[in-house]
Amino acid sequence: MRTIQHWINGSTVGGEGTTRLPVFDPATGEQAAEVIAATAGEVREAVRAATAAFPGWRATGLSRRAEVMFRFRELVDANRKEIAGLISAEHGKTVADALGELARGIENIEFAAGASALLKGGFTEQASTGVDVYSIRQPLGVVAGITPFNFPAMVPMWMFCTALVAGNAFVLKPSEKDPSTSLLLADLLHQAGAPAGVFNVVQGDSTAVEALLADPGIAAVSFVGSTPVARHVYETATRAGKRVQALGGAKNHMVVLPDADLDAAADAAVSAGYGSAGERCMAVSVVVAVGPVADPLVDAIARRVAAIRVGPASDPNAEMGPLISREHRDRVAGYLAGGGGDVVVDGRVAPAAQGPGFFLGPSLVDNVSTGSGYYTDEIFGPVLSVVRVRTYDEAVALVNDNPYGNGTAIFTRDGGAARRFQYEVVCGMVGVNVPIPVPVAYYSFGGWKSSLFGDLHMYGPEGLDFYTRTKVVTSRWPDPSTSQVDLGFPTVR
Ligand code: NAD
Repeated sequence: MRTIQHWINGSTVGGEGTTRLPVFDPATGEQAAEVIAATAGEVREAVRAATAAFPGWRATGLSRRAEVMFRFRELVDANRKEIAGLISAEHGKTVADALGELARGIENIEFAAGASALLKGGFTEQASTGVDVYSIRQPLGVVAGITPFNFPAMVPMWMFCTALVAGNAFVLKPSEKDPSTSLLLADLLHQAGAPAGVFNVVQGDSTAVEALLADPGIAAVSFVGSTPVARHVYETATRAGKRVQALGGAKNHMVVLPDADLDAAADAAVSAGYGSAGERCMAVSVVVAVGPVADPLVDAIARRVAAIRVGPASDPNAEMGPLISREHRDRVAGYLAGGGGDVVVDGRVAPAAQGPGFFLGPSLVDNVSTGSGYYTDEIFGPVLSVVRVRTYDEAVALVNDNPYGNGTAIFTRDGGAARRFQYEVVCGMVGVNVPIPVPVAYYSFGGWKSSLFGDLHMYGPEGLDFYTRTKVVTSRWPDPSTSQVDLGFPTVR
């Protein structure tokens, strides 16, 4: 059985713990490897390595840190196929989808490689007579990233590229469900010139997470995962005095107005609802059909759903792969057995769902009641719900009353309605005729409400704000002959 190791102080390290966690090939349902979960002592060792590496990395010139990012970008690009293959093997998503994930990750490396201009401080000459004031941005120290299973390359890259270029050292705790990609990225960073200890990976579960949250050597924590864990991470780590950004789950609504292009809206709902088997935090999980658009829209979506090819990543024709685990597949399928809506397409009867892999066919549920589990839960699978409302106002109220606020989209040909929606909707990321509005890397990513705990969004300019702190210096170089004792505030400036 292949064992997946840690990466500490510039090389792989075998685990000493006794907890062994299985890693599956979701397409076959067979165990492919195992992770030896890090003990609290191993986490400490990784933090110690990062702490030792930090002063040297911080002192390394900014242009040199950016150069490491440039080289890392080239190495990731040259190894796209291998990385995408690894993602598909453990996550189950199609290779095309894994390559797409990687492309969005590479954007973050490129942003970091060019971040020097944004790491500049400010300078005010002659703020007072003979007094200059300036601000400088300094790294925090050792920072940790805790990441989910659904983007094993991109989400870690959201974090560590920005953190490293700003001069921090990093400890990553990837998802235990698809951990191998993190080691390949660690190796490529090493090849790119990141010194030993600057980037470390500890594999494992909540034991490793709790050790990171409690470690006094960790200055800040970036988390992406489900809302209950995000809340726990935020509360625990802020109580320990750390800076935290904790991104949680989602329930993304796509509002379709009666004047929308029906085919374009149906294409978008299907692509965003079933891509990556619905295991995306920005997946559309609720279509809000306004007025008379509902009947033709549900028909158009159902026709498209019937044509989706479900299969393993090894099948180049497959458009949708399996779910991450048997338990998760069964949980998602369980919704289709309960009430709360009219099941139009039932993924449980799909041919792929009959095999040993963790497959569930794409499922469509119409007339979903907002009190049912279809609506209240983050299902995180290929189940698309349709809620019917009469008016635009009802649609906006639905989105705004939802506890989550990650992404939302409106489909319309009315610019005024779209602008009103963008103004009124209580949500962190909004698409206008774009179903998955993940911001490009030079903006920042983050939801509102229960989709994010903390103040700063991830990557882009807000990522740099998160991973640096500002120092303001007030300086004067006086002629010693003018010096005098003055116990008051200066009255003459
Ligand atoms: P998860 O919350 O189960 O796990 C995330 C991380 O937390 C993993 O590294 C895991 O090992 C660790 N963890 C799990 N349970 C823990 C516990 N009790 N205590 C401490 N640590 C724990 O999430 P997941 O299933 O890996 O990923 C899917 C979730 O992530 C979905 O809810 C999805 O919406 C969310 N997600 C959100 C975003 C976003 O940007 N908002 C992006 C991707 C995924």
